[in-house]
Amino acid sequence: EACRILQKGGLVAFPTETVYGLGGDAMYSEASAKIYAAKGRPSDNPLIIHIADMEHLDKIVEEVPEAAHKLAEAFWPGPLTMIMNKSDAVPHGTTGGLDTVAIRMPSDPIALELIRQGGGYVAAPSANTSGRPSPTTAQHVYEDQGKIPMILDGGAVTIGLESTIVDLTEEIPTILRPGYISLEMVQAVLGEAKMDKGLISSDSNIHPKAPGMKYRHYAPKAPVTVVTGPAEASARTIEQLAKPGDGVICFDEFADRFDQQTVECLGPSRDKRIQAQRVFDALRTFDSK
Ligand code: AMP
Ligand code: MG
Repeated sequence: EACRILQKGGLVAFPTETVYGLGGDAMYSEASAKIYAAKGRPSDNPLIIHIADMEHLDKIVEEVPEAAHKLAEAFWPGPLTMIMNKSDAVPHGTTGGLDTVAIRMPSDPIALELIRQGGGYVAAPSANTSGRPSPTTAQHVYEDQGKIPMILDGGAVTIGLESTIVDLTEEIPTILRPGYISLEMVQAVLGEAKMDKGLISSDSNIHPKAPGMKYRHYAPKAPVTVVTGPAEASARTIEQLAKPGDGVICFDEFADRFDQQTVECLGPSRDKRIQAQRVFDALRTFDSK
C-alpha cells in the first residue's frame, strides 16, 4: 500500500537507520513539491535521493566517480550521502535547482523494500518539520506530520543521527554535513578528504555549501544551553547553571547530581553510539513536557 501511494505521487514516512524520512517519488517534481510543503522546507534546500541498488545510480548521475565506488564499497548501505553531478533524468524540483544531486543507500530493510517496490528512487528528507529536531521514532513523525497519508512504523531507529554528506564534485572530497561517519573514516577510504570551510569557520562571510546548513536546524521549542568540554567539568558547570525545575540532558554517571531537575540520560559518557541514538529523542521529550 505504501508503494502504491509513492507510485501515485503521494508521500510516505518510513524508518531508515539514521532518522525517519519523508518519502516521495524523486523523479516526479510534484511529489518533491509535496515534501517541501509538508515539511515547510525552503525550496532551495535540496532533497536526498534514496536508492536500493547500485545499478540504479547510473540513471541519476552524469558519471560515477571512482571515489563513489570506493565509498559505496565501504559504507553502503549505510549512513553516508554522496553528492555528484546530476543527470537530466533528475528534476530540478528535487535538487532545489542545483545541477548536483545527493544520493544515499540506506540499510534499513523496510526502507530498502519500500524504495525497490516504490519505483527505485525515493526523495526523502528527515521527516521532521523544518527546523525541528530529527524524528527517531514513528511517534515523532506523527507529532510533526499528522496529515500525510501513511507512516511506516519500524520502531526506534538504530543510529539516530543524520547521514554524513560528502561532496564528490570538488577536487578534494569535502564533508558538507557532519554525521555518523567521521572525517577520519572517509579519509581512511579515500586517502584525502576535508571538512567544508563553511562548517568550521567562525567567519560569518564563509557560508556552508550544503544549503540546509545555513538554516536554523534541530531546534527544540525550549531554550537550550549547550555545555561543552570534558565530561566531569561539564557536569560541574551544569550543576552551577541549572535552576530547580530545569531539564538537564547529561551522561548516565551524573544523573543523580540533579535531584532538583528533570533528567534525560544520554547514556554513558564513553559511549558515543548510544549518545547519538538518544540526543534528538531527549530534546523532543523535553519539548513534550
Ligand atoms: P535532510 O533531507 O533533512 O537529511 O537534509 C539534507 C541535507 O543535504 C540538507 O542540508 C541539504 O542542503 C543537503 N543537500 C542535499 N542535496 C545537496 C546538494 N546537491 N548539494 C549540497 N547539499 C545538498
Ligand atoms: Mg534534516
